[in-house]
Amino acid sequence: MKPITLKNYAESRWVAGEGALAELRSAIDGDVVALTSSQGLDFGGMTRFARETGGPALRKLTFHERAKLLKALADALTARKEELYALSYSTGATKADAWIDVDGGIGTFAVYQGKGRRELPNDTILIDGAVETLSRGGTFQGLHVYTSQQGVAVHINAFNFPVWGMLEKLAPTFLAGMPAIVKPASATAYLTEAAVRIMIEANVLPLGALQLIVGATGDLFDHLTCQDVVSFTGSAQTAAKLKSHPVMAREGVRFIAEQDSLNASILGPDAAPESPEFDLFIKEVAKEMTGKAGQKCTAIRRAFVPARWLDAAQAALIARLEKIAPGDPREEATRMGALVSVSQREDVRAKIAELARDGAIVFGDPVATPVTAKGAFMTPVLLRCEKPWEARAVHDVEAFGPVSTLMPYADAADAITLANRGKGSLVMSVFTHDVNFTRDVVLGAGAFHGRIAFIDRDSAKESTGHGSPMPHMIHGGPGRAGGGEEMGGVRGVTHYMQRTALQGHPRVLSSIVQRYIAGTPTTDSGATHPFRLKFHDLAIGYQLKTKSREITMEDIEHFARFTGDTFYAHLDEEAAAANPLFGGRVAHGYLILSFAAGLFVDPAPGPVLANYGLDNLRFIKPVKPGESIQVALTVKEKTLRKSDQGEVRWDVVVTNAQGEPVAAYDLLTMNAA
Ligand code: NAP
Repeated sequence: MKPITLKNYAESRWVAGEGALAELRSAIDGDVVALTSSQGLDFGGMTRFARETGGPALRKLTFHERAKLLKALADALTARKEELYALSYSTGATKADAWIDVDGGIGTFAVYQGKGRRELPNDTILIDGAVETLSRGGTFQGLHVYTSQQGVAVHINAFNFPVWGMLEKLAPTFLAGMPAIVKPASATAYLTEAAVRIMIEANVLPLGALQLIVGATGDLFDHLTCQDVVSFTGSAQTAAKLKSHPVMAREGVRFIAEQDSLNASILGPDAAPESPEFDLFIKEVAKEMTGKAGQKCTAIRRAFVPARWLDAAQAALIARLEKIAPGDPREEATRMGALVSVSQREDVRAKIAELARDGAIVFGDPVATPVTAKGAFMTPVLLRCEKPWEARAVHDVEAFGPVSTLMPYADAADAITLANRGKGSLVMSVFTHDVNFTRDVVLGAGAFHGRIAFIDRDSAKESTGHGSPMPHMIHGGPGRAGGGEEMGGVRGVTHYMQRTALQGHPRVLSSIVQRYIAGTPTTDSGATHPFRLKFHDLAIGYQLKTKSREITMEDIEHFARFTGDTFYAHLDEEAAAANPLFGGRVAHGYLILSFAAGLFVDPAPGPVLANYGLDNLRFIKPVKPGESIQVALTVKEKTLRKSDQGEVRWDVVVTNAQGEPVAAYDLLTMNAA
């Protein structure tokens, strides 16, 4: 097959690099599959194009509009994913590996588009946390907000997940309103290039939102500024090199790193060989060693088992590994494909030699060249290290291939200490059915691991496993793992935004974030009840103040009988008098809520379609029989959900005759637009 010549996508044009082209070879047979170069690109021009064209266009869109972009891109990729699978084989990936990369990446877009629409406002400013009271009179308050960074996100990715690696970074970046320049690892750049082509051809992204470099980054870093973000995945060595670029420190460029990780898995002290957890552990270690030929940043490199079960675990693991021979990834029966390249295999072999100084190879032959002479295949290699307390390499050296080391531990505390000797990892899994051990693990090891997955007989069937970073959960880890964090739902979006503390009068803060904040002057609803107004006609701060209503003893007793809520504080005078909080009978909180609704509801058919919940409900002060209540209902926030419907968040404060709040909450209604 004739090699493809890859093109860069710079300043909205596909351009071939100049000069000598690098040859990218198939992992299966060593044939050249692609030629690439980024020489001659105007890297400064690319950063300016992103900042001046892509950024402003993305920042104009609301979070919901950006989420729609993700949806359109995910649809475009789904429609053409067969093209990506076909190219994926040359990277050494099996169909199952390609599925994780391609569908996993598209799935990440899908999750982010959903979260963008559900968890982010239909706005361009994101509020972080609650209003902080900074003054006695309430005229000076504080609020944190996020706004989009006004630079470009440079994504430098590793070779192992050419599609997922790109999409898991692009999803939060685009949602945050930042343009990106993607630089994939050269070895598998042809697959990333194909995915970028699909996204560009979908014609939904604003100009300048996405650019691609297929080759070296030239003088790109010289053009970075304080508004840019570099998000890197790869080796610790490259991370260190990039971080020490003088521009990074001088400009204070935000740097997010995901790098080598000596992830651990622990078989719990309770998980004897006949337990379900033992089997699950063996299966998972074998799966992590062989999936993607072990080239996963999350793969289990260190497997710890109670010392007395070390032999049993070794025998069981070998029995499983014996069934997983490497093979041509294009064949359906193949369960483990090739490493990405012959040079990567050389690197893995060298690392195994270092690991073998700490232990013995008990399965596999690192120097064998199975399947094809020119391909990058190797067998899985299992090592056994008898003395992990004295060993160094097993806790320090990452063989980025189908390699793992089995080690004993003495007791629970020892397992935790050993797991932490990896000096920071992306993920650790624990196979135990003992809930006491799980808490000890989190207290003892949480600080060293970005994610901890507990897997047992009750969760195994639905578990997403040790190795899969989920878009909802953070991916990243401390120390050796790079100290970065990606994804984690909306958290990942904020990595591409600046958090700013705002201080001022509530009226000012309220107008900035388009949300009613207590203390802001309100508009009296006068003759027009707010339930008579359609979504677009309701203004933030529009307020209804109701009449007041007395709550009588008879009301309380009737409510108790009617609902069955006969709690002593409402019915038993003596017991209620002894209650230190009430000192006598009080109205049910739910009675207050019901009466509040009775006070503010306008019953006739109108634009309010449904009441679908309350948020942040607090009963602040008890209401005794004979006291009266009154309600202030204020439009707090509006979010258009469909072209003809929008969610209205109402601030509801119920007060007593002295004007003291007795209950407060947010009411959510769906209103016709
Ligand atoms: P790598 O050699 O460090 O390369 C990573 C990326 O950096 C590639 O795109 C590479 O491009 C680029 N790069 C290298 N030198 C550069 C420079 N001077 N300036 C700008 N870019 C530069 O890592 P890899 O071999 O691709 O990936 C394997 C490693 O990544 C393993 O150590 C693994 O643990 C780690 N990894 C971590 C995660 C994670 O999420 N934590 C995920 C996957 C992999 P070229 O290919 O063109 O050199």
